[in-house]
Amino acid sequence: MVKIKTFYKNYLLLISLLLLMSVFAIHLSFAKALASDKEYQRIVIIGDPHLPGENITGKENLVKDINSWSDVDVVVAIGDICEDTGSRDEYSYAKQFFSKVVKPVSFIVGNHDYIYADLKSSRGKRIKGSPGTREAALQLFKQTFGLPSVYYSKKVGKYLLVFLSPDDLQSNYLTMISDTQLSWLQKELSGNREVPTIIFFHAPLKGTLQDYNENVNKENFIAQPYEKIRDIIMANQQIFMWISGHTHTPATNKSFSSPINIYENQVTNIHNPDINRKTLWTNSLYLYPDKTVVKTYNHTKGAWLTGLERVVIPRQK
Ligand SMILES: [Zn+2]
Repeated sequence: MVKIKTFYKNYLLLISLLLLMSVFAIHLSFAKALASDKEYQRIVIIGDPHLPGENITGKENLVKDINSWSDVDVVVAIGDICEDTGSRDEYSYAKQFFSKVVKPVSFIVGNHDYIYADLKSSRGKRIKGSPGTREAALQLFKQTFGLPSVYYSKKVGKYLLVFLSPDDLQSNYLTMISDTQLSWLQKELSGNREVPTIIFFHAPLKGTLQDYNENVNKENFIAQPYEKIRDIIMANQQIFMWISGHTHTPATNKSFSSPINIYENQVTNIHNPDINRKTLWTNSLYLYPDKTVVKTYNHTKGAWLTGLERVVIPRQK
């Protein structure tokens, strides 16, 4: 009797040991499979959606395309999510539009999301809002997209992604960052000096496009305050990429991908076309440990733009 009991005991022990080992082995191989699955993180950027706006079918198909790309990690909506004045109707449309995106979406503010009063002039012109209406619009933005703040950062792979928003309540400029936000940015950067950093903001850095129309590089079409932003960038050499919309620069434009995109010999500004047009493009960033690859996709044709593939190497310490 005693012998049988010991036999059973040992037998049970052996079985559980084997079970434990196999669970461990499955776990290991699963982790390995996940790790080798892809060696990059992919970010898709949606340029100025202006919702609902034009070409609604095209916009919906663009979301379907992004959902069909299983390797996407993050989607970024680069501001001007609302078509016109950032009304409650536009926000609620935007909310349901982006609820269809399967992967997590990072939202930042554009001028159309916060700076204009809902009421237009008698001639139908947009009027800049008071500090009160701007503040209320920023609140609505946060509430709609579930954000505690309109500026924030995320670590993705070995990179720091910094999301900034125009949020100045008084400025006449369309894309002005408040002093409070700039202080936050400086702190964030000084705590991450060794981390290759990409900044997402609605407007581009000054001088990173050719003057192809009367707006480009003018005070309302660059990230403001531009001198302070330049000082911060140059004091933080880990910043190597700036991602913007606002200028509605199509992928067919000469300076869409050009040496002029390089700011102060340090930061590559990637310009993103708006999606409120007939032909829709998105840029994808592929973040590898040692390089970032940028590719442009034409959703209207269903094809990659082979000539526009770019490789950007972050400064290594
Ligand atoms: Zn804009």
